[in-house]
Amino acid sequence: MAIEIVRTPGHLRATLNAWRGAGQRIALVPTMGAIHQGHLDLVIASRLTADKVIASIFVNPTQFAAHEDLSSYPRDEAGDARVLEAAGCNLIYAPNVETMYPSGFATTIQVSGITQELEGIFRPHFFGGVATIVTKLFIQAAPDVALFGEKDWQQLQVVRALVRDLDLPLEIIGVPTRRESDGLALSSRNAYLSAEQRAVAPALKHALDHICAALENKVPALEAETAAQQALLKAGFGSIDYLTARHAETLMPWKSGDPLRVLGAAFLGKTRLIDNRGA
Ligand code: AMP
Repeated sequence: MAIEIVRTPGHLRATLNAWRGAGQRIALVPTMGAIHQGHLDLVIASRLTADKVIASIFVNPTQFAAHEDLSSYPRDEAGDARVLEAAGCNLIYAPNVETMYPSGFATTIQVSGITQELEGIFRPHFFGGVATIVTKLFIQAAPDVALFGEKDWQQLQVVRALVRDLDLPLEIIGVPTRRESDGLALSSRNAYLSAEQRAVAPALKHALDHICAALENKVPALEAETAAQQALLKAGFGSIDYLTARHAETLMPWKSGDPLRVLGAAFLGKTRLIDNRGA
């Protein structure tokens, strides 16, 4: 039997209550669909910690600005359902926009502090949209655990902050970034790249690697960042939003002794790629 797809919070709760009643631990994997192996890694990691795994598929309009790729974002629900099921997912929650944002919707979750850095500067609407939809999904599914990719490192920190601040009773697990063999982080947006751009794309990961190596060799952070930015532009990226060493949790500029995360966002043509790595 093909995996069940439910579309309303009521149906979701009915299924999950039955599982919970049987004492089963439930994991939630929020996604926007266009499922790739990075998403499937979250499902596979879920199975190690939970009895049942729900994946949500919802292209959340409130995290896109008017000029961004909401209408062209890749969608293939039937294909997604097949690969999610094969990875061990037990249920798909795919609500429509009217279900998630009924007429008159007026509430937003805002996490301050870390959302004002990096992505928050270049996509000011983004974290409000993410925090609101993630909170709704947590309330609707009431999972024991939710899994997020380190690929979106700042998002992972924002989710951890909102769970802590709102005393939400679930555990958050971060899963390492899945990469192509040349280092490019898997992303649904990689599908937008031309063959020529695809060949250039791993330069973003190389730039992150260069900053890490330079910091290890005691090169001052600003100098390391500037050299990596120049190399990334030289490799063929068009413009850089940020390429920077940060405190891994607060995302404030890195100082010697801080836990390190190096994060980058840059354009290849019209496609904006993001990536990050630790020390
Ligand atoms: P998205 O559908 O792009 O919103 O991503 C859904 C979840 O998958 C988020 O928690 C992402 O961080 C995670 N994710 C996306 N790409 C990757 C990847 N290459 N490796 C690991 N996790 C990923």
